[in-house]
Amino acid sequence: AKAMGKGCYAIFDEDMHTMAVQRLDIENELRKGIKHRDFVLYYQPIINLTDQSIIGFESLVRWNHPRKGLVGPDEFIPIAEETGLIVPLGEWVLFESCRQMNDWLQRFPSHQEMLIHVNVSGIQLKQAGFPDRVRTCLQTTGLPSRCLKLEITESMLMSLEDRAVTILDAIRKQHVQIGIDDFGTGYSSLSYLHRFPVDTLKIDRSFVLGLDKNNDNAKIVKAIISLAHALGLNVVAEGIETARHLTMLGSMRCEYGQGYHFSHPLPAHQVAGMLGRA
Ligand code: C2E
Ligand code: CA
Ligand code: CA
Ligand code: CA
Repeated sequence: AKAMGKGCYAIFDEDMHTMAVQRLDIENELRKGIKHRDFVLYYQPIINLTDQSIIGFESLVRWNHPRKGLVGPDEFIPIAEETGLIVPLGEWVLFESCRQMNDWLQRFPSHQEMLIHVNVSGIQLKQAGFPDRVRTCLQTTGLPSRCLKLEITESMLMSLEDRAVTILDAIRKQHVQIGIDDFGTGYSSLSYLHRFPVDTLKIDRSFVLGLDKNNDNAKIVKAIISLAHALGLNVVAEGIETARHLTMLGSMRCEYGQGYHFSHPLPAHQVAGMLGRA
């Protein structure tokens, strides 16, 4: 057993080495990608569950990799966060999202009340001067502040603790809204929640996907929605994939939702087609 154990360690070390090299490769490629702006944004509609109208879009970044093609964010956001590259990448995402939404508002005046939801990493959020960057972004792109909502994950929010309150206050002073993303996965103490100045709770899709299979899930989703409403927040449910999810969430008085049942995330030209028709 001892000899085997030793062998296992050798293999393990080799794997670790390979992984470290791969990571370094991705880091270097990410650096180049940011320099060359090899990223694109996809946009997923957010729907008013009462009348099924579009209330806005969430922007979701993809890496247009020179060899691999379109790469999803789960493959590079964690590395971008560890290396700090999320700061310049997130800055580009914020500006491009606001620029694009303002463009749609100009071209489709019947959709004046649309919001753009932009994902912001905690690493980005805690950079000194982030609220000023948001202000500059709105000034530069011309997007009205009421049309921007920043999404911060529950776990990032909890790890920032009191610092988050100060930063979010400075952002909300500009009438930019805040949503808590992936709610239910961050193990926040519920007694803490009311201290964070936010507008929206987004229920993580793992709860929504389990809605029709698991009775406990339905109870949890119902409780999250009641809690949010009691705190004066509105609710977006993620991962609505079926008509049944939609019906159940509607009966629980969930206001908004997104998911494959309505639409996958779309490239900008397809969104323009959709807005032109509606
Ligand atoms: P997220 O913010 O929770 O975004 C929702 C994810 O769920 C997206 O994956 C979306 O494509 C996917 N999705 C939407 N509807 C459904 C559905 O009905 N069923 C299922 N199974 N999935 C659905 P995506 O685009 O791969 O993004 C993954 C994560 O990467 C995002 O999760 C977000 O945490 C992160 N991310 C994406 N763009 C950015 C960004 O610009 N900045 C930062 N910091 N993170 C980003
Ligand atoms: Ca999000
Ligand atoms: Ca989410
Ligand atoms: Ca997520």
